[in-house]
Amino acid sequence: MTTGKSIVRPAAEELSERLRGQVLLPGDDDFGLELEGFNQITEHSPDLMAVVAGAEDVREAVGFAAARGMPVAVQATGHGPSTAADCGLLINTRRMRGVRIDPDARTARVAAGAQWFEVIEAAAEHGLAPLNGSSPLTGVIGYTLGGGLGLMARRYGYAADRVTAVEIVTPDGESHRATADRDTDLFWAVRGGKGNFGVVTALEFGLVPVSRLYGGGLYFAGEAAAEVMHAWRDWTPAVPEDLTSSLALLRLPDVEAIPPFLRGRLTVHVRIAHLGSAEEGKKLAEPLRAAGPLVADTLADMPYTRCGEIHNDPTEPIPYSERSMMLRELDGAATDALLALAGPSADCIDLTVELRQLGGAVGRPPEVPNAVDHRDAAFALSTLSLPDDRPPLVVDGMAAWGTGRRYLNFLASPDTADLAESGYEPATFARLAEIKAKVDPRNLFRFNHNIAPRPSGF
Ligand SMILES: Cc1cc2nc3c(=O)[nH]c(=O)nc-3n(C[C@H](O)[C@H](O)[C@H](O)COP(=O)(O)OP(=O)(O)OC[C@H]3O[C@@H](n4cnc5c(N)ncnc54)[C@H](O)[C@@H]3O)c2cc1C
Repeated sequence: MTTGKSIVRPAAEELSERLRGQVLLPGDDDFGLELEGFNQITEHSPDLMAVVAGAEDVREAVGFAAARGMPVAVQATGHGPSTAADCGLLINTRRMRGVRIDPDARTARVAAGAQWFEVIEAAAEHGLAPLNGSSPLTGVIGYTLGGGLGLMARRYGYAADRVTAVEIVTPDGESHRATADRDTDLFWAVRGGKGNFGVVTALEFGLVPVSRLYGGGLYFAGEAAAEVMHAWRDWTPAVPEDLTSSLALLRLPDVEAIPPFLRGRLTVHVRIAHLGSAEEGKKLAEPLRAAGPLVADTLADMPYTRCGEIHNDPTEPIPYSERSMMLRELDGAATDALLALAGPSADCIDLTVELRQLGGAVGRPPEVPNAVDHRDAAFALSTLSLPDDRPPLVVDGMAAWGTGRRYLNFLASPDTADLAESGYEPATFARLAEIKAKVDPRNLFRFNHNIAPRPSGF
């Protein structure tokens, strides 16, 4: 097996001749630039990189790697690296743009490098919206393959639940179009199994008839964390599925990139996306607005194209670790425990500690079954911290209320790949591992939340 260190320029040149895109080796002018991604905690150091220009390039590049037994990593935006690709071939999809909307069928078809803002804008022209997440900058494919927990999740479910077709180059270099009727195992596995089964070159999925919402953020001074968290917890069980919300404890550094009112202090940020009328939204938000002294209030009727303002996620690359745990419930004791771990008097290093309310459509199985679990979870807890050696104290400290499962899209840093099994129920993971054994027996696609191949009957 060639693990990559012996890859020499002639082999790269051979691949280069077959691609429309670019093949780069360490030391080449653009190599460092093309390697850059959003989360800088992971430093990939592949032996070579194929900056692919289309599906045919992907097929050539994967075939090249397969023939040499080279492991393959995939990067679009770098928002979700789970392990460093320190040898082998990195397929960089960022130049594979392209979003096509079918307004009659209410579907979108997107290429591998598409980012959510492109789909949001294209769909909005037809009064439609995708099931994107909090940041319009994340990649459509990486987000969706991990489930895709979005701003309208309680109303419409996980993004993966609405995928209708996956075009993918499997680790043997073959192209497939997997649907509910074709390559059904692959179709099930890819929707939830993340990047384990090959390179997705295009995705097709349903859009929803949403062009506006009542949403934004309520920002409270950190000293009111206990009152606000308990008020939010008391409020969530009764809100309609048209409303999806989250609460974050923000401990943001005193740097210029952060808005002055958030710098160097603890702030509680409640984020709301309500699909009903503004009037109803205002009424629903009343108890929260009264929960503590507001530092800022951005709740307003807005076009869906402004949905990125709800969470106001960072847009500049930063190095961070992200951890997660699904919670069965959030009772008073759980809220107090979280306050002790991350509230105003806690010695907490996390930049953000976030709770997202689940339930509604994310709690129900999709029409076409997929590998996204967590239908029984009530909240998703996640933390984001700068590089630090300390264990994930907040997430571990909430284990008593956890389902024991993690949401893989909220697990990012070089050391989170081996937690993949905790992203699934045992039966789901076993089936994923069996499909992996058929599709990728050599585990060439291992620089991800890796599902090690396990032949059936293992
Ligand atoms: C600011 C921010 C906000 C976020 N908000 C949400 C949210 O609201 N909801 C949510 O569910 N997640 C959210 N995420 C997590 C995000 O969805 C995941 O990290 C996702 O994996 C990012 O995909 P990417 O392609 O942008 O990143 P990359 O780091 O480029 O890719 C991550 C992984 O996705 C896989 N992948 C990407 N493209 C392909 C492809 N074409 N074929 C096969 N595999 C591929 C690979 O395994 C790759 O390692 C957020 C992340 C950030 C940083």
